[in-house]
Amino acid sequence: MRLKNKIALVTGGGQGIGSGIAMKLAQEGVYVIVNDIHYENAQQIIEKIKQFKGNGVPYQADVTKSDEVEEMEKFVSKEIGDIDILVNNAGICKFAPFLETTEEVWDKIIQANLKSSFLCCQYFLPGMIKKRGGKIVNISSESGKRGSKGQSAYCASKFGVIGLTQVLALEFAPFNINVNAVCPGPIDTPLWEEMKTEFSVLYGLNVANYKDYFVKNYPISRMGTIEDVANGVLFLVLPESDYITGQSININGGAVFY
Ligand code: NAP
Repeated sequence: MRLKNKIALVTGGGQGIGSGIAMKLAQEGVYVIVNDIHYENAQQIIEKIKQFKGNGVPYQADVTKSDEVEEMEKFVSKEIGDIDILVNNAGICKFAPFLETTEEVWDKIIQANLKSSFLCCQYFLPGMIKKRGGKIVNISSESGKRGSKGQSAYCASKFGVIGLTQVLALEFAPFNINVNAVCPGPIDTPLWEEMKTEFSVLYGLNVANYKDYFVKNYPISRMGTIEDVANGVLFLVLPESDYITGQSININGGAVFY
């Protein structure tokens, strides 16, 4: 219960990495607003949180839409209070060769992965400034550090998240607000169920054994777990990391060293 009485918003928290982060924070006493585009998924995570006597509320919003983020901020600040922790996790991914990446796919990925963080930071930072403190963690990716085949839009969005993280760290350090990112490698989440076929085609793999690629090519020979990422995020919102800002921390089994 190291974060008792803190309030956090986790976007895209209805499944995958975001759900693990929401539960990890709730275990530390945080009141968690679990946002997702799918209300029922967010609600299920809140039910799990309540099972271990944690606390929080589900909130449906598409975080690529400014009016929905604005409404969410109004609800949260009025009904719960200004947040102390913002985890910009919502995102999507699609593997496609560059010449097959349509303008529509490009826009969708940039909006879901980059614009969403811009909007949530714009609407929720004023409350943190009022409180004279806060922690923001943006979920970038290994693909925010190096190019990956078939991920032109995804890499552009995740490199962008790192740039945004550095600028916000500079601008909001005077308000005692730390802004960092984490860069996960391949993490075993429902997202991979959607992506595994595209990924296997692009990398010439047998889809039934696509995880072998990570066993063979990563120094720590496995996919990452949701827990691996949630632990990294927890560190970045605890007082133990108060002197860390503007960083993009790799959680990728040693795939990237910078
Ligand atoms: P996931 O299992 O698909 O979960 C993400 C959740 O966010 C889904 O419920 C998704 O709904 C929701 N969402 C998407 N767009 C949204 C929006 N505009 N507003 C609100 N909710 C939205 O994905 P994940 O694997 O946990 O990934 C979470 C984050 O980690 C993403 O930013 C991803 O890029 C990043 N990441 C993942 C990996 C990995 O290997 N899994 C690696 C590096 C980084 P839909 O299902 O309808 O999209």
